[in-house]
Amino acid sequence: MLKKTSHFMREANLIGGSWVQADSGETIEVVNPANGQTIGTVPKCGRAETRRAIEAAEAAFHSWKKTSANDRAKLLRRLHDVIMDNQDALAELLVLEQGKPLAEAKGEVGMSAAYILWFAEEARRVYGDVVPSPWADRRILVTKEPVGVIGAITPWNFPSSMLARKLGPALAAGCTAVAKPASQTPYSGLAWGVLAEEAGFPAGVVNIVTGSASAIGDELTENPLVRKITFTGSTEIGKLLMQKAAGTVKKVSMELGGNAPFLVFNDADVDRAVQGAIVAKYRNSGQTCVCTNRFFVQEEIHDRFVEKLVEATSKLKVGPGLEEGSQQGPLIDEKAVEKVEELLADATSKGAKVAIGGKRHALGGTFFEPTVITGASPEMRIMEEEIFGPVSPIFRFKHEEEAVAMANATSFGLACYFYTSDLGRAFRVMEGLKYGLVGVNEGLITTVEAPFGGFKESGLGKEGGYQGIEDYLDTKYVCIGGL
Ligand code: ADP
Repeated sequence: MLKKTSHFMREANLIGGSWVQADSGETIEVVNPANGQTIGTVPKCGRAETRRAIEAAEAAFHSWKKTSANDRAKLLRRLHDVIMDNQDALAELLVLEQGKPLAEAKGEVGMSAAYILWFAEEARRVYGDVVPSPWADRRILVTKEPVGVIGAITPWNFPSSMLARKLGPALAAGCTAVAKPASQTPYSGLAWGVLAEEAGFPAGVVNIVTGSASAIGDELTENPLVRKITFTGSTEIGKLLMQKAAGTVKKVSMELGGNAPFLVFNDADVDRAVQGAIVAKYRNSGQTCVCTNRFFVQEEIHDRFVEKLVEATSKLKVGPGLEEGSQQGPLIDEKAVEKVEELLADATSKGAKVAIGGKRHALGGTFFEPTVITGASPEMRIMEEEIFGPVSPIFRFKHEEEAVAMANATSFGLACYFYTSDLGRAFRVMEGLKYGLVGVNEGLITTVEAPFGGFKESGLGKEGGYQGIEDYLDTKYVCIGGL
């Protein structure tokens, strides 16, 4: 298996077209979460290497920004093709370092390619305006131009597609990039360097550094050559990056934590709701920022929904991602398991009952049993904290207004879901929920065509959709006089 993926598995960083090691020669180990074994190492870079990567990106920007949108679109289409030609190998590499089931990994790589293709198309639609002038002898033009070098910091839960959402619009707009993948899953990030080379992007357009998150993050946020920071990760680190980026007034895009509510009303199609609940909760073993964190189920349908959810949960096959038929991989690391255990202990000590699961899986390591708990209440930590694991807490409610109020009683506002067959209620609840993404009778809604992004402390800016390229562009007003 390693042999098949080895072509993409780079144990070096890409800076200005060269694959290099850290100045210190230091490395960090990358571990397979399914068995705890070391897969390999990647360079442990810091500020100096990051500065060189930024300078290489700045040098490349001067010619890259002058390429035609059509030429950039062609390269991006080629990048899409290279990804799809290597979908299996990239997916295997992803499973190896991240743990998710192979089918999900293939889906993620397919999604990465889809983002690249979408932005290849959008590259040619970066329109400006000619604005009616208040002066007879002057004309007003509004043009768009690439912001410059961007710094992209990405997490371990979608190590391939989170970079696609950033590199796609950046390259389409004419920006160059320095990317820092998460230390747990650097290979899928470094693979973007190999892919960009194979597609034919000029040296320095895509640079990738791994290593000390704080050192790389400090250089990316403090270096004035970087004009935009795009980040996906925790709200805590997002806030820190925003503060640091303020020093040189960089643009920022932030895709941060979520606390997704999933509301099931009495008039819902219960089977459809359970089907949606399974994908909205257990995808990637609950480790996505759009995963359901809290289920709110109305009184009359409560017991039927719980019974069917428990039954569906019991059928989820837990196992290593590369094992045939596996649907639930391990959690990313021991810390993640401890967090899930802590939140469960807090909930049960405050009255929640375990309906299924509730403990580490017999497979050992970081495998955890898919879990459902009932009797959840607002004073439990799961009301506000992201579980990021395979636990479904069920709250019971009486009235629509009460459910919407509880769903909104959080500082987050990324994704939410609800199930109803009443059209009036569908509109009322959709308009009442303070969330950037709403699934109505759907549990899996992410797609390249639609703008993804949170409200409140879940983030700033949109990824995907026609909106996704906006954050990588500066708007310039030009007044032409003396006509
Ligand atoms: P998670 O909880 O998903 O690991 P983090 O926000 O800690 O979320 O990590 C997301 C990304 O942010 C990773 O690439 C991580 O290495 C990076 N990161 C963590 N701390 C910092 C920091 N101080 N500065 C810049 N990046 C950071």
